Amino acid sequence: MSNSGRLIVISGPTASGKSTLWKRLVSYSNVDFSVSATTRGIRTGETDGKDYSFISVEEFKQRIDNNEFLEYATVHANYYGTLRANVEASLNAGRDIVLEVDVQGAQQLADCGLPIVSIFVVPPSRETLIERLRNRGTETEEQIATRLKAVDHELGFAKDYDYQLVNDNFERMLAETEGILGYSVENSNG
Ligand code: 5GP
Repeated sequence: MSNSGRLIVISGPTASGKSTLWKRLVSYSNVDFSVSATTRGIRTGETDGKDYSFISVEEFKQRIDNNEFLEYATVHANYYGTLRANVEASLNAGRDIVLEVDVQGAQQLADCGLPIVSIFVVPPSRETLIERLRNRGTETEEQIATRLKAVDHELGFAKDYDYQLVNDNFERMLAETEGILGYSVENSNG
């Protein structure tokens, strides 16, 4: 684990397994998660302030005007953004902070001048991805179709990341990520 904090930027197509990855990374004692703000509706099982800060479009726009976002983007017709204050608090405390952002967000972060390690999670195949998305059962068929359209576009950005990891076996991918970041089991909270 490095002494100064880094931004660990994780992107990947919908249902690629990127959320499972960041959830495991933040179980390490020296790693925070950046709770993004979003204007999308809260899903069953999500908690406001933990998964996202769920805010109105008016509030989001106000926060843009106040320069509160390190990056923000419109994804699937909703606003999502990383709050500058969250990131600075972690980095100033010498802690890594994991950001799950879309490809537009990652591009903005690449230019922000902060220490970054960027990882793109690649699903093993389009069929697996569609199956995972249907099994998740959180989106309507129309929303699934919208998300699938974005997948090919997003995959075109994988090469811009420091690392591209194929999620054909989650534990193997996790071990690879831990190696890249220099995390070891002694740092884990469990
Ligand atoms: P979901 O609605 O499924 O939670 O997330 C949809 C997309 O929004 C994902 O691709 C996710 O990476 C992206 N996203 C979540 N938070 C942020 C953020 O703070 N900034 C950006 N640019 N994208 C985000």
